[in-house]
Amino acid sequence: MLRYRLLVFCFVSLSVALALRAEPTPAKRAAARQTRAEPEEQGITFNSVHVDEPYIAMTFDDGPSATLTPKLLDLLAAHHIKATFFVIGENVAEHPEIVARAAREGHEIGNHSWSHPNLGKISDEGVRRQLQQTDDAIKSATGERPTLMRPPYGSITDHEKRWIHDQFGYDIILWDVDPYDWKRPGPAVVRARILKETRPGSIVLSHDIHPGTIEAMPSTFDQLEAKGFKFVTVSELIRMAVARPPHTSPQSSGSASPTGATGFAFPTPSPASSPND
Ligand SMILES: [Zn+2]
Repeated sequence: MLRYRLLVFCFVSLSVALALRAEPTPAKRAAARQTRAEPEEQGITFNSVHVDEPYIAMTFDDGPSATLTPKLLDLLAAHHIKATFFVIGENVAEHPEIVARAAREGHEIGNHSWSHPNLGKISDEGVRRQLQQTDDAIKSATGERPTLMRPPYGSITDHEKRWIHDQFGYDIILWDVDPYDWKRPGPAVVRARILKETRPGSIVLSHDIHPGTIEAMPSTFDQLEAKGFKFVTVSELIRMAVARPPHTSPQSSGSASPTGATGFAFPTPSPASSPND
């Protein structure tokens, strides 16, 4: 009987010990969460995406424009190119049918604020209103809420990035190719700058409110295609992301984070400054 009890005692002790080992303490779990949190946070902001095929995302800001955006949509359709439009809420309210058309034709619509203020210089409440009103206008025009935002002028604080991502679920999209088309340098210069800087995974910034930009696009698309580039929306590009090679990986813990494979953006220069992105 004594031997039996001893056996049961040993068995129970062993089980408890194993259970304790299998179930990390809350403190350990929190620590594990913390090591995983870092790569996920880096995945909030994208200047470009690390891909292993020649995919790029063309992005057009500040529209829709009543005259130029439909022209661009015709051109994109002719080339079977899907682009991403970072729209201003005020303009969406004025031309919801253009935004609806863009969405219907497979383009992605992102939030570029209601009236294009510098988000780094207004209150959290002001930022929240700018984004919410635009989110609502996009939902009303297209039936869907956006999942991306681009801050006007590329200006956004780290604090804003975090709470905007938490509250709206947005990824924050900057760019790595900037032709400075807002300075209206002429279509040839816009095209040359884009062709010179674009590489696989690039996010190309342009504006569908400047005639020269729209004029530059037919030959720009032709030549990008000739170089072998393929066009996807920003969200599609992010979904194609592959992990950075180990020596440039921001975190080499090897933890199996579910978003680890998709979260890596290039380091974010802060902030990418284009006086009129
Ligand atoms: Zn802008």
